[in-house]
Formats: sequence, structure tokens, C-alpha cells
Amino acid sequence: MEYAYDDQNIFAKILRGEIPNKTVYENDHALAFEDITPQAPVHVLVIPKGPYMSLDHFARDASAEEHSGFMQAVAEVCRLTGVEEGFRAIANTRAHGVQEVPHYHMHILGGRPMGRMLA
Ligand code: C5P
Repeated sequence: MEYAYDDQNIFAKILRGEIPNKTVYENDHALAFEDITPQAPVHVLVIPKGPYMSLDHFARDASAEEHSGFMQAVAEVCRLTGVEEGFRAIANTRAHGVQEVPHYHMHILGGRPMGRMLA
């Protein structure tokens, strides 16, 4: 990997158990937890356990097992949070995507209509 992963980022600390989190679901390859500043009735972050900074790094470098584990976590979050009426999945990516935490995370937002938003 040519990018430098910062293992002091806050989600790395959460994965190491150094900072508490409200876990929604966990498997061997992914952790899902409630966002500390929820923007909707359902606001969960799904993160891989591996050291991937962004969605494109994860897409490029993660193994089939990691991809499968991540998507299993997404499915379980949707089931457990009851977002049958719909939700929004967002992966803010680096500077232009206004990514604050440099560990890939997918926001799952639901529980109310989201409104139109593409940028
Ligand atoms: O902008 P970005 O997609 O990187 O968003 C990071 C998210 O991580 C924010 O929604 C913030 O509330 C969340 N966060 C968290 N727990 C922390 C630090 C940040 O849920 N300890």
C-alpha cells in the first residue's frame, strides 16, 4: 500500500478498545457502532477492522473475506435498525469528500426521509 495509515486515528483506537463505542454489530472483519453525533434517528458507522484509510483503498486492497465481512455488517445493521423504508449510505472520502476520520467508514443514516442531496 503506498498510502500511510495513521494508527492513532480515533477509529483505530476504537478498534483497539482504547475508546468506548456503542456497538451495533461486529464480526471478524468489521465493526458497526452508533455515531457519537447522530444526524438522523438511525446513524451507524460501519468500519473494516483492517488499516484502510478510505473507500477506494478498501475497494482496491481488501481481501474477498474482508469485503464479504464488511457487507455482512451492513446487512446486519440494516436488519437490526429496522430501516425497511430506506436509508442513505455515505462514504466521505479524503479532502474533497470532507472525510474527518482517516479510517474508511460507511455512514448508514435512516429513520426519517433524508431529503435530496448529491453534493
Ligand atoms: O466526516 P466523516 O465521514 O469522517 O465523519 C466522521 C464521523 O465520525 C462523524 O459523523 C463523527 O460524529 C463520528 N465520530 C464518532 N465517534 C468519535 C469521533 C467521530 O462517531 N469518537
